[in-house]
Amino acid sequence: MVRQDFIGEVWTSNEIDMKLHIEIDPSSGFCNGVIGAVEKAEKKLKECSKLYSLGAIVHNNSELDRLNKIGLEVIDIEQMKQLHNTTVLIRAHGEPPTTYNVAKENNIKLIDCTCPVVLKLQERIRNTYNSHNGQIVIFGKIGHAEVNGLVGQVNGDAIVVDGLESLDKIDYNRAINIFSQTTKDPYEYEQICSAIKERVVQLGGNESQINIYNTICRQVAQRHKNLVDFAKGHSVIVFISGKESSNGKVLYELCKSVNDRSYHIQTIDQIETSWFKDGDTVGICGATSTPKWQLEGVEKYLYSLSILNC
Ligand code: SF4
Repeated sequence: MVRQDFIGEVWTSNEIDMKLHIEIDPSSGFCNGVIGAVEKAEKKLKECSKLYSLGAIVHNNSELDRLNKIGLEVIDIEQMKQLHNTTVLIRAHGEPPTTYNVAKENNIKLIDCTCPVVLKLQERIRNTYNSHNGQIVIFGKIGHAEVNGLVGQVNGDAIVVDGLESLDKIDYNRAINIFSQTTKDPYEYEQICSAIKERVVQLGGNESQINIYNTICRQVAQRHKNLVDFAKGHSVIVFISGKESSNGKVLYELCKSVNDRSYHIQTIDQIETSWFKDGDTVGICGATSTPKWQLEGVEKYLYSLSILNC
């Protein structure tokens, strides 16, 4: 039977009937921080036709396109410096104090959508810096907006490590306070902390000079656990997230590590029918920046390939 369906912007034609069992991961989709930021942007855009967002509100081009169509314009800090007497949204990742200074100087009203979890982490880093002599070490992606915001809390006096190979930056003769970017892999964070402990001991130091702060977002940590079971429980995994999403990269690698038939896509048109066989169970999942409508769009598309969702 040949079937044709219109799904979003994609026409599908299926020459070979397949029976697929399709399921969306119930724990995938926007995290609370992103939900809050997108809701505030949409609310503001109902009152006015245009709103600036400092940086991409979410690392997902499809969602950015949707928001852009209703008036959200993404700007960078250099563009913000040129603006006066307007409103700018701060996304869930947070910002360094210098951004707030620019807003004050240019009479810019801020819609501050910094996630409460990130705000708490920023505060912990500030307090630790002010009350200890030790170094601030942040495990995170160099240049990531959240990490830049964290480093800004201590005027740049922090060491960012992004893997075992960057641990030479740390001074092992001084106290070490370790924090993680909220979306990092909990297992990788554990490995980094263990490696730092080992180096301290090897150099004749004591583990007591290290303070490890568990700052990975609970929602993210829980997703890691759930996703392993979800990926193991399906024949094929279709993982959706933007290229820029660091959480997406981590979660996709996690799926791939337990299910070799895991595929990473940004948009529906990247799906290849050759990935599926008759009788497959297909799991659809995504990052904290993947909107529900995109997960549902892929589900609908896969239904069109399947003669029956068994
Ligand atoms: S991942 Fe967690 S900390 Fe980061 S924005 Fe989402 S809810 Fe907040």
